[in-house]
Amino acid sequence: MIELRSLDENEMCAYLKEHGFPAFRGKQLFSWVHQKGIVEFAEMSNLGKELTAFLQANATVCSPKIVKEQINHNQDSAKLLLEFADGILVEIVIMLYERKNSRDRQTVCISTQAGCGMGCAFCATGLNGLERNLTAGEIVSQVLAADAWCEKHGYTGISNVVYMGMGEPLANLAAVLKSISLLNHEKGLKIGQRRITVSTCGLVPQINEMAEKKLAIGLAVSLHATNDELRNKIMPINQKYPIQGLIGAAQNYSAKTGRRVTYEYALFEGVNDSQKEALALAKLLKGQLAHVNLIKANLVKETGFLPAKPETLQKFAEAVAASGVEVTLRESRGSDIDAACGQLRRHFSREVQK
Ligand code: SF4
Repeated sequence: MIELRSLDENEMCAYLKEHGFPAFRGKQLFSWVHQKGIVEFAEMSNLGKELTAFLQANATVCSPKIVKEQINHNQDSAKLLLEFADGILVEIVIMLYERKNSRDRQTVCISTQAGCGMGCAFCATGLNGLERNLTAGEIVSQVLAADAWCEKHGYTGISNVVYMGMGEPLANLAAVLKSISLLNHEKGLKIGQRRITVSTCGLVPQINEMAEKKLAIGLAVSLHATNDELRNKIMPINQKYPIQGLIGAAQNYSAKTGRRVTYEYALFEGVNDSQKEALALAKLLKGQLAHVNLIKANLVKETGFLPAKPETLQKFAEAVAASGVEVTLRESRGSDIDAACGQLRRHFSREVQK
């Protein structure tokens, strides 16, 4: 069996040609699978009986099941737990904006791995390590699932995608890059490169590799500390790629793509939320094409890290801004629905085990 959602248009055409069907059928198939989000071959009305029967016998289209969904009390975010064919569970978060007919956007935060091997000390996903990488088709399927969910609930379709869910995207770079080209495709969901952001905990060689592609996609670096001593402790990847090299790679990304890099900084009480650290952060980034997103961390009981107090967050933001570095306090959405990555999945797994 071949899984079709991981194939690009040329690969679909080549696959059908190889099996004796006209190559142009691959273009029709691509649009069913990637634009219309159809997974049943019998519903693909223009393929003809012979090809439909062939596909039913030889191919599948990745289509995760929604096994749990939660909408937060403000109704501004929804979290879906998706199950793939082999039982792997991944989470997505849909950040909801306006109701239909508005020009506003819907953003989905998607996962690139089941679990994660990076071991960040504050993160629920990292607690059980990496289960496996997701395929390009599985990554795209999350966006299609979110798009269908929005349609069903009266929202406009997905316009923005952030690769910030479970897993480290750059540890699964080939699948991530392929999924971006599938999402961006004019016979797919046509999501513009500028509306896609990839986040990393700091894999320097892969940041440089991505820079060489000169895509217009946004890069977000999860920094969370301003010195190597602390970052080594809370983000073990720093022992391999320390802060100065990481910032150098991010600057290289800006230079090659013209895109401003976003630095994510989640504030944890008593860990990285002092005024001294605010000034150190500003010093690190001053003069660069950079933007800081300060995040009020969600509470993940298992990690022992506590979110910083709102007044500390505000003061931290003011100190960074006063130093001339652009900063925003990111809206905290969905803290009542386990919105820190990996939490819904962990809680669901425990419920199932009970
Ligand atoms: S924060 Fe991201 S990179 Fe770090 S363990 Fe969690 S999922 Fe992995």
